[in-house]
Amino acid sequence: MKKMTIRALLDEYRKYLHHDITVNGWVRAFRSNRFIALNDGSTINNLQIVVDFENFDESLIKNISTASSLKITGEVVESQGSGQTIEIIAKKIEILGDNDTEELQHTILQPKKHSLEKLREQAHLRFRTNLFGAVFRVRNAVSFAIHSFFNERDFFYVNTPVITGADAEGAGEMFGVTNFDLNSLPKTEDDKVDFAEDFFGRKTNLTVSGQLEAEAAAMGLGRVYTFGPTFRAENSNTTRHLAEFWMVEPEVAFNNLEDNIDLAEDFLKYVIQYVLDHCKDDLAFLDKRFEEEQKTKPQKDRATQGLIEKLETVVKQRFKRVSYTEAIDILRDSKENKKGKFQYLIDEWGADLQSEHERYLVEKHFESPVVLFDYPAKIKAFYMRLNEDGKTVAAMDVLFPGIGEIIGGSQREERLSVLKNKMAEMGVDGEELWWYLDTRRFGSVPHAGFGLGLERLVLFVTGMTNIRDVIPFPRTPGNAEF
Ligand code: ATP
Ligand code: MN
Repeated sequence: MKKMTIRALLDEYRKYLHHDITVNGWVRAFRSNRFIALNDGSTINNLQIVVDFENFDESLIKNISTASSLKITGEVVESQGSGQTIEIIAKKIEILGDNDTEELQHTILQPKKHSLEKLREQAHLRFRTNLFGAVFRVRNAVSFAIHSFFNERDFFYVNTPVITGADAEGAGEMFGVTNFDLNSLPKTEDDKVDFAEDFFGRKTNLTVSGQLEAEAAAMGLGRVYTFGPTFRAENSNTTRHLAEFWMVEPEVAFNNLEDNIDLAEDFLKYVIQYVLDHCKDDLAFLDKRFEEEQKTKPQKDRATQGLIEKLETVVKQRFKRVSYTEAIDILRDSKENKKGKFQYLIDEWGADLQSEHERYLVEKHFESPVVLFDYPAKIKAFYMRLNEDGKTVAAMDVLFPGIGEIIGGSQREERLSVLKNKMAEMGVDGEELWWYLDTRRFGSVPHAGFGLGLERLVLFVTGMTNIRDVIPFPRTPGNAEF
């Protein structure tokens, strides 16, 4: 008999009415020795299995409990009860795995409400919960939509290295990669660690961004994007930072800053619309969770919109485009700044924006996603294109409600001499990046790109608040269990 998922069965149940089918899954609940709610992870919806206990061994029935796994064959019938369209009248039940009932008491599989912290400690089991099933199915849909967006627009997916020879890509602190026996490190004559003796014959790190390599690819393939894991050894214990996260980085030859902003806006709207269209059941569940969470917050911190409503608004709104200079004026004149409510007060042009400022602009002032552009050169990376004013660069950040920065990007400096000057000024080693400079030596063209943190987008679409809850096995300072 053909194996099928519960999602496929529920979607096309008419095809199977009064036929025998086989399903596999885990027991979510077993009521009155008669009704099993079976879930196989393919959908948030459970399948109801009706068991006539007279037809089965008593010992078999006894061994069925929450969390045990079953293979069931039976007839598909229209359901008598409310709450489901169909149910399966069980003819054959096979227990694939029963439970260590004693140990089960200490796990999150125990059917009651568990805190998100507790669920995080048992990250290997949280896939079994409604909440994390929904989150990870939505995460999958987001990833799929990302590939499909770029594929529809003539972009090529390129894979950039995870282990990199560069040690200053300008994006953040790096994790070193070594094959040395740390208890006996080879030393050079001046008593430094001799990386020439290491596996790659040089010092290597985990990548913080695939951008520089993606730029090289765009200088031949035209439109490319990377989508892979990136690593940052920043010791920031926030709800928006991971030490290992997934980044999407398009890089486009012949694009300028405005094209780049258009691309970012289209891209975000496409992915969010895709989730609205394809994850209805999971979103409905997450929407309800979001609403309940709001009720636990003080009135002033509550979201003004529900989750689905928020997503629908974002795809309809035109993102506000505001220069850094305008933003500084708005922030400087804000009530928050004047009354000293910001932790970091804004008094001068040139200040780096903190997330409190980004969120003020998005949530209080504009009440819309905001794209900030033309930042001071001093606070941005060496590869961003210098504007004619000589003091700002063609950078852009997309800021989202509840999240802050979701995308950071720029038009890149394509002029070799300007780039070299900038690198010297910022102390970036031009010798080491000889290959990057080559892309400006032979047929250099204007180009632009950005980086999106996948988990920040998943946070936004799921309405979750901690980034540790939207990646299966989070890596943060002090945490690398599993
Ligand atoms: P932030 O200011 O929020 O720390 P950043 O300016 O260091 O971010 P970029 O180098 O511009 O970030 O990286 C591009 C995108 O990658 C960001 O817009 C964000 O979505 C995501 N990102 C950056 N750092 C992290 C992190 N530690 N964990 C998860 N996502 C991140
Ligand atoms: Mn940034």
